[in-house]
Amino acid sequence: MADKNSLSLSGRRAIVTGAGKGIGRTIALALAGAGADVAVTARNLSDLEAVAREIEGLGRRSLALNCDVTDPAQVQGMAAAAVEGLGGMDILVNNAGSAQSHKFLTHPDELWHHMLAVNLTSVYYVSKAFAPAMVKQRWGRIINIASIASKIGGRYIAAYTAAKHGVLGLTRALALELVQDQVTVNAICPGYVDTPLTDTNIANISRRTEMTESQARETLANISPQKRLIEPEEVAAVALFLAAESSRGITGQAINVDGGTVMY
Ligand code: NAD
Repeated sequence: MADKNSLSLSGRRAIVTGAGKGIGRTIALALAGAGADVAVTARNLSDLEAVAREIEGLGRRSLALNCDVTDPAQVQGMAAAAVEGLGGMDILVNNAGSAQSHKFLTHPDELWHHMLAVNLTSVYYVSKAFAPAMVKQRWGRIINIASIASKIGGRYIAAYTAAKHGVLGLTRALALELVQDQVTVNAICPGYVDTPLTDTNIANISRRTEMTESQARETLANISPQKRLIEPEEVAAVALFLAAESSRGITGQAINVDGGTVMY
């Protein structure tokens, strides 16, 4: 096992939700690159199997587990398989999520419930499923991929914003509840990241406005004072840092990776 001040994850076992693509895939590969065995879960098994093969190519063990994180029964089954398959669990990255926008005045109730389920309640289900193994071994890391929408409001994303603000509330409450069990709970708050989710956002903006896709991409990039989209690797680097033994004193925090878009 890693020494007190090491950034190595050698000997650690990790699981990443929504790991078939985007930020989740990048985090899963980064964790494996730092020495962890990594289970990957999402709804598309063929994407997951490809990521699992990449992890095995790095010399680590992997498991590809199909699971809809909005379904508590599926989450229970997935968690049991992950803990059994890897022989325990040390690091959970709650990454699965979805961002859909709508004007508030005509907001469909189903969209509200879906945004809350996939972005917030899923973090509750998955954390509840893995926390007992971490508490029992008195070591754990829960890392929630939140958003700058956890800290500031945004037009047309009321449900996503409410859900992501909720993720920070859950992060802080759980951090305090598990602090004496040596389990840390933190959040990462990215600005716009260059992933398939952002590609979908860009296509939607272009469809609803006069903008071309490249203008819509530039508009999102210009929201950041750095005038660029964040790379998934920048989010993964913070996840690695939070997962390390040397970060044992950091809990209940929400770290922005946003090029200075939000200053608190
Ligand atoms: P993405 O759409 O590229 O990937 C999302 C992943 O979550 C996919 O693997 C998808 O299959 C999975 N997923 C979605 N619904 C699921 C469900 N019900 N059950 C299981 N898996 C499910 O998205 P991304 O951009 O990589 O985003 C990952 C996380 O980062 C999300 O929580 C998102 O809110 C957050 N985030 C993204 C951005 C951004 O600009 N891309 C910015 C801030 C925060």
